[in-house]
Amino acid sequence: MIDYHVHTQLCNHAKGSMEAYIQKAVAIGLKEICFLDHLTMHEYGKRLSMSPEEVPFYFQAVQQLKHKYRGIIKVKAGLELDFAQEYADFFQKIVDTYSFDLIGSSLHFLGKMDIVTRKSEWKQGKLDIDYVYGLYFSQLEKMLDYNYFDVVCHIDLIKKFGWKPSISFDKTFDKILSKIKSKDLIVEVNTSGYEYPVNEIFPSMEIINKCHELGINITVGSDAHNPESVGQHYDRVLPMLVSAGYRQLATFTKRKREMIPLAQRH
Ligand SMILES: [Zn+2]
Ligand SMILES: [Zn+2]
Repeated sequence: MIDYHVHTQLCNHAKGSMEAYIQKAVAIGLKEICFLDHLTMHEYGKRLSMSPEEVPFYFQAVQQLKHKYRGIIKVKAGLELDFAQEYADFFQKIVDTYSFDLIGSSLHFLGKMDIVTRKSEWKQGKLDIDYVYGLYFSQLEKMLDYNYFDVVCHIDLIKKFGWKPSISFDKTFDKILSKIKSKDLIVEVNTSGYEYPVNEIFPSMEIINKCHELGINITVGSDAHNPESVGQHYDRVLPMLVSAGYRQLATFTKRKREMIPLAQRH
């Protein structure tokens, strides 16, 4: 089994050494771990991310660990790029400069609006739910116009705090999924949702089933922000993926995809 989404202290809101994440992965029998730390450029989000100047250090640190753990576990280097149209060219440059194994894209900020942190107005229920969902999905559609990433991370993150819209976004979402299919992107199954008020995986089973019907491939990650969380909730989630019909997971080496069997045990 693999964990394709773990963080590092460089993002200022994760704990533990990079090596501790790897050791936890080895301890629970994982065959592969991918660091996918944040690179966020928004004014309001950059304190929750490595700085662009730290990217070379981060990349090198993963390369060293990749070497050190060769034959024990595969260690991959990735970035979770926080989409905003104004930084898309910059992200393209970063992606072209380093040979990362995997590039993920996600949305944590909608313009100035923070939709992810504990202190956010969104978490506190101060914002119009339908409006924010609409904004989230329109940003997501825009994100899919760019080509610098391989994986869409926690695609329905907007549900994190448990707020549900009163109107249906099914049609919009169908459009998004067909775009993902036509671009042959991977959808990440992110098990951290069980840690938040929504108490379900990202994306929901309904979306996972739709992905399977459309032939969209998936990968899986814990979004661990501390070493103990590596592989969290896999016992619960892996059988769900099998029941949706999935038998394979996507892995990446220098952004080249390889499908591996989805073994239910770690
Ligand atoms: Zn984070
Ligand atoms: Zn993450």
